[in-house]
Amino acid sequence: MSGKGEEEHVLEPKSPSPIISLRNASRGFPGTKALSGVHLDIYSGEFLAIVGPSGSGKSTLLNILGLLDTPTAGSYLVHGNDMGEVPAAERASLRARVFGFVFQESHMVGRDAAARNAVLGLRARGVAWKEQNRLVIPTLRRFGLEGRAATPAAMLSGGERQRLAMARAVIGAPDVILADEPTGSLDTANGQIVVDHLRELQLTGTTVVMVTHDPAIAATADRIVTMRDGEIVEDTGHKVRVHDDAHEHTYVEGGQPKLVRRRRDEIIDLTADALSTLTIRPAKALLLVLAFLLGSGGLVAAVGLSESAAVKVTARIDAASNDEVRATRDGGYASWKQVSTDLAASRLLSGVVDAGVVADLPATEAQPATFRPGAVLEAPAFIGGVRIADAAYLRLQGATLLSGDSALLDNSFGAPVAVLGQGAARQLGIAKPGPGVVIWLYGEPVAVAGIIDDPGRDPVLEGAVVVGVGSYPIASTKVNASLVLRTHTGAPAAIAEVLPKALSPAAAEAITVQTVADLRDLKHGINTDLGRMVAIVSVILLVIASLSAGTTMYLGVLGRSQEIALRLALGMRKSALASMFLMEGAVVGVLGGTAGSAVGVGAALAYAENEGWVPVIPATAALWGIGAGLLSGLLSAVYPAAVASRANPAQLIRG
Ligand code: ADP
Ligand code: MG
Repeated sequence: MSGKGEEEHVLEPKSPSPIISLRNASRGFPGTKALSGVHLDIYSGEFLAIVGPSGSGKSTLLNILGLLDTPTAGSYLVHGNDMGEVPAAERASLRARVFGFVFQESHMVGRDAAARNAVLGLRARGVAWKEQNRLVIPTLRRFGLEGRAATPAAMLSGGERQRLAMARAVIGAPDVILADEPTGSLDTANGQIVVDHLRELQLTGTTVVMVTHDPAIAATADRIVTMRDGEIVEDTGHKVRVHDDAHEHTYVEGGQPKLVRRRRDEIIDLTADALSTLTIRPAKALLLVLAFLLGSGGLVAAVGLSESAAVKVTARIDAASNDEVRATRDGGYASWKQVSTDLAASRLLSGVVDAGVVADLPATEAQPATFRPGAVLEAPAFIGGVRIADAAYLRLQGATLLSGDSALLDNSFGAPVAVLGQGAARQLGIAKPGPGVVIWLYGEPVAVAGIIDDPGRDPVLEGAVVVGVGSYPIASTKVNASLVLRTHTGAPAAIAEVLPKALSPAAAEAITVQTVADLRDLKHGINTDLGRMVAIVSVILLVIASLSAGTTMYLGVLGRSQEIALRLALGMRKSALASMFLMEGAVVGVLGGTAGSAVGVGAALAYAENEGWVPVIPATAALWGIGAGLLSGLLSAVYPAAVASRANPAQLIRG
């Protein structure tokens, strides 16, 4: 019956039902029929060779057996279950459990170590690390590769790579090994080693189905199926050779692996894969991160800037609730005497309750400091506003002092005087006013006359240094001071009418009057001008970042098509494959978003300080930046992920 030597025991199959069987199965492709009406029963423990000329349908048959492809007519049964009735996801997990694949090309991930390649199937199935580690060395040892565990697969010889492919195929203890021309790219000696290993696997209970065009190799099998033009033209019939004492085999220690899926290991593994693809081209990855950085950084800066501007303006609008009028003189004031004249003139108008003056100085020029400039190195820069005001201004804003006397702002007996908002006092390290307590402004000592308790209607006062009108000499430059009038409720409109003429009878147009309505426009203007422009530019940057990351990833998918097909063939779920790419996008996006948030906050702070605004950067702005990076990173990966999970393992491996 066998003609292959006296020591072999040839038995009828133990189980009467075949492990896999094709029933009248056909597979058509546009223009050809690769398989037509094939019947084939394969029993557990068989060593079967499929032979036939090129194009006769051998690979098509093997792909259908391995659940990489489905018949277009007829049916395929695994353990008696019709695979046509099983959903695709379940077929994929069945494929990973029941079948191990060895191809003509070993299809290794060249940059990864042999050990990592050996467990690729286990990783694809989300098997716990502990289990992977328990199996990998014994399995490599079984194929004589334990000394090569750490060697990148690309550095192995052809024979070693094919043995590694066998290690990868059997590590999950499949029922059936499917090998398509496993010796096709090897010399005779290495080819023989591969066949010997396959025989050993069969003798330890694995069913082996091997496609070969080499008659000498086919002759070593127990059963030969010959194909021609998509049909089986000859079948020597099934029989099973069993293990005898002449053969000694090493099983993987610990017996059959318990291949439990471990969610945490799987997620960390996917992240590691995502990171490793990024590190292959670090310069490119860095550029992508930079693109996301600019986009999300701009967004954070936009939020910070418009918030800071809005607080400054909203403070005034709220304060000016229908009883405030402000006036400025074109070109500013040349002297405090002129300011006093205007204040006196406006107090005479009917409906005016009180009148004060306020002007903002750029903090960067005034450089408020605790110590004489140069006395300490690298004193931290003051963040906040510097205002010139009189006692009336504080009074009509409803501001109150914690200690000290605001009257000193108007009459400081020749010495420069300031009162501090509590925020400013804290920054400058001033606990309370008193004789000899000074801060430095424009490099000059300024006596601290008081500390503001409640900033009243002007929240900016909280963080500001308020310098008395008399203290600030108007020399070469004019000061853009605003007169602020407190009026009876409802009076601002009427007062706004008459004020220019009252202050400047000869040239009323030199006086600009603002009421609440004007201030609303101002707020609108600031928010749209700056915040919106920065936001638009940032969104454009984010879209560009997302597109370029998407393109890079898409090209990556094309370049890694073999590896992707392999992962799918080894049982990776399409959802896991997609999340691998989403993870890659998310990592780049979050890195860029985080760095961008830091840059954006810094830019907004610098700008606000330069403008003399109190910087108000909402704590959530940074989260917005990270979120924007994450979102655009994920978006960039959607298309590549979709393309990757549409990959067909049968097609790709054939190519
Ligand atoms: P073998 O492995 O025996 O050389 P194949 O199974 O690869 O043969 O191919 C059998 C026939 O089916 C060939 O004519 C081949 O061109 C055709 N074929 C295989 N795959 C495809 C495909 N994806 N699209 C179209 N034709 C295919
Ligand atoms: Mg083929």
